[in-house]
Amino acid sequence: MRRFDVIVVGAGHAGCEAAAAAARMGADTLLLTHKLSTIGEMSCNPAIGGLAKGHLVREIDALDGVMARVIDRAGIQFRILNRSKGPAVRGPRAQADRKLYRQAMQSVLGEQANLTIEGVGVEDLAVGADGVLSGVVTAAGETIAAGAVVLTTGTFLRGLIHVGEERTPAGRVGEAPSIGLSDTLARLGFPLGRLKTGTPPRLDGRTIDWAALEKQPGDHPPPPFSYLTERIDTPQVDCAITWTTPEAHALIRANLHRAPIYSGQIQGTGPRYCPSIEDKVVRFADKERHQIFLEPEGLDDDTVYPNGISTSLPRDVQLAIIASMPGLDRAVMLRPGYAIEYDFVDPRELGPTLETRRVPGLFFAGQINGTTGYEEAAAQGLMAGINAAITAGGRGEGFVLDRAEAYIGVLIDDLITRGTNEPYRMFTSRAEYRLVLRADNADQRLTRRGVAFGCVGAARSAAFERKALSLDAARALVRTLQATPADLARRGVAVNQDGVRRSAADLLRYPNIDFASLTRLWPELADVSADIAEQVEIDGKYAGYLDRQDADIRAFRKDEALDLPADLDVDSIGSLSAEIRQKLKQARPGSLGAAARIPGMTPAALVALLRHVKRRDARVAV
Ligand code: FAD
Repeated sequence: MRRFDVIVVGAGHAGCEAAAAAARMGADTLLLTHKLSTIGEMSCNPAIGGLAKGHLVREIDALDGVMARVIDRAGIQFRILNRSKGPAVRGPRAQADRKLYRQAMQSVLGEQANLTIEGVGVEDLAVGADGVLSGVVTAAGETIAAGAVVLTTGTFLRGLIHVGEERTPAGRVGEAPSIGLSDTLARLGFPLGRLKTGTPPRLDGRTIDWAALEKQPGDHPPPPFSYLTERIDTPQVDCAITWTTPEAHALIRANLHRAPIYSGQIQGTGPRYCPSIEDKVVRFADKERHQIFLEPEGLDDDTVYPNGISTSLPRDVQLAIIASMPGLDRAVMLRPGYAIEYDFVDPRELGPTLETRRVPGLFFAGQINGTTGYEEAAAQGLMAGINAAITAGGRGEGFVLDRAEAYIGVLIDDLITRGTNEPYRMFTSRAEYRLVLRADNADQRLTRRGVAFGCVGAARSAAFERKALSLDAARALVRTLQATPADLARRGVAVNQDGVRRSAADLLRYPNIDFASLTRLWPELADVSADIAEQVEIDGKYAGYLDRQDADIRAFRKDEALDLPADLDVDSIGSLSAEIRQKLKQARPGSLGAAARIPGMTPAALVALLRHVKRRDARVAV
């Protein structure tokens, strides 16, 4: 029988990261997926990043994951969203050429040492009567042994596509669903739920009246995603903006009885924050129009993705909606939009390493855990891949990031403590320590952690240390360069004439002084590279807030340090209500801090928990 350290099932965004991460950790890794040609497929929108999602991608990159490097080779429009707002909420985003993205992902994985990739479905898990996982069983009937298995099956578990009244079992359009594995998970006792997501129709770009529409260009020069990319070489394109019309809204209202989400045909819950157009028209009834971005899907592909009109209305209604929009009156629909329903597992079944508690050695990552989005999937894949390699190698503690270290930590903590009953996506508002968790400093926060755990290669580690030296030098320089108030006044900078010398770092705290204006005072600062200058400027501008956030983080870590034992017997804590006991049993929090984040947890219950654990610890110590 063939044997690998780690087997990853599925090569979507979670699976690609999981396989690459496990292999980087030195584990002999096998990636099994239905079709080799769909490795790295973007099932829905051809874009990576955006608000909060861009933060996740930078964090993946800081840990040497592949998503950022791949989009840098495939991106046809790069922008920093919210550039005019504070640094905490700026989000890098890039639109992808779909084909180039797949090709780049396939080539990056093809070059990865310790990684074997095969195109075959997985039908079952090999789990003995003793509940011990020993490997997987493929559709070809082969059992392959593994030390750990990562399932990243996305929207494929009992996937069912809806277009109006039509229903087709599928994992996504044109691909068969995964039924066997869903049965396996139910047999093993995993609680499965049903969720739904949707995609818009696709248009033929040659039939759109681009001249009639407002253009939306990217940033120049295009800002790369990866800390390792110096320059984007792919040609860049413009997008365009159009709007839905009152006519389209009337059409939608008149056909709601034919929309699967309203007719009762779909049972799964859809993404509240990424609603279908029928959902938007119902929920925001007073809005006369919704903005729609027309996004080209590739450089040599005329397909256009109308971002904002995801729908599962019947084809004839979709055609009429499109024809009613400015610039689209002659547009040809290449493919209708559709909704898809699929099974997911309650993520409270997972521990912080994304290993299931029910079957040791089995990990879940991506849409299977109730999330939506490529970036959320990739972030979980990375963490599951690293931890699967640790488990398979019999190495000690897992790799866990907390809520004050990374958006990845926020994502996983939210999933495993709160669970989810709708597709979960990341927002900056989910993070308590936003000023610290910025997209620009993900490498400062995480790369050394990754090096210590063995998931960051030598090239990135060396590049990071070079950058760290430059950053230290620039920080020292802005503290050293000083001027008197009189000097500053002579050079056109108005400060209090109090006789106190001010450093360049001090001056950055003034709202009207940025790094560029400092270079006019001290020309030697012009040698500092743009990315280092950005970080030094943020350090200076937000120094007071950052200090306050550091104090909050210290308080947070104190609660996190109060461990709750894995074998905590909540039934023996008399003062807890039945409801609180049930919540604690479901989420099994690892610390008092995590218990406090379970929705519905009360201060009284937390005090009871704390007392119980302290008494127990005292007994153990005696
Ligand atoms: P996927 O990308 O789905 O990849 C799963 C992989 O597993 C595939 O390669 C598949 O072939 C493989 N696989 C499955 N079962 C098996 C098996 N038994 N054996 C071997 N291989 C297997 N996200 C948003 O953020 N916004 C949206 O609006 C949005 N709309 C969407 C609309 C549609 C129609 C779909 C299908 C998805 C949409 N998504 C959306 C979700 C986004 O595509 C996913 O979040 C993301 O792709 C999840 O990544 P993943 O790696 O978990 O799974």
